[in-house]
Amino acid sequence: MPGRLRLALFGPPGAGKGTQAQLLTDRYDLAHVSSGDIFRHNLRQGTPLGLRAKKYMDRGELVPDEVVIDIMLSKVMSIHADDGFILDGFPRNTRQAEELEAALTARARNIDKVLHIDVCEEELARRLGGRFVCRDCQAPFTHQGDGPPPACQRCQGDLYQRDDDRPEAVQRRIGVYRDETMPVLAFYRDRGLLADIPGKDSVDKVFKRIVETL
Ligand code: AMP
Repeated sequence: MPGRLRLALFGPPGAGKGTQAQLLTDRYDLAHVSSGDIFRHNLRQGTPLGLRAKKYMDRGELVPDEVVIDIMLSKVMSIHADDGFILDGFPRNTRQAEELEAALTARARNIDKVLHIDVCEEELARRLGGRFVCRDCQAPFTHQGDGPPPACQRCQGDLYQRDDDRPEAVQRRIGVYRDETMPVLAFYRDRGLLADIPGKDSVDKVFKRIVETL
């Protein structure tokens, strides 16, 4: 099955989704479809989409479905039928999940497994305070302490802290996850696709758990 896995990855902000998605992408040769990366890319390029998404992103709120769904579905549907993918950050509410399911079912390309990285809120708040992202390759890193963060370990690019990793936005993002995204987990649990992965341990341990599940 490797190379053709169709996965969706869930976890609250700070659960290590981006890191695990990257590891899974490399291991199983998957297309990594990250809605957050798509919006940030558009924001940097100053596209109408980026400008429209900015105010929601800065506040830690969801970008409206009318903006998100078409873009994400066309991105997913543009992946070749023989290629696997991992969805990271989409779907984020029940309506997005229903629309994705309808689109995938119409093409007989259903999701094989939904991975839920489970981390308690206390640990999330601690981690997000030290979260940095590479400006060039978008890889996430944790850096605690007062000094500036080191360069990116993957590509030597500059690391920066996202606006939506500020404390007020972090609290809002955790609340949005709880209210809007957790119901999506129930949606996939009902379909027998959900795997809960305890996510408080090291990156390697969590990755090992995921691979065992797959
Ligand atoms: P992320 O990097 O996944 O945390 O996404 C960053 C921000 O982009 C989120 O806080 C939202 O404002 C927006 N965003 C990403 N994915 C979605 C989505 N599926 N639906 C709505 N907004 C999204």
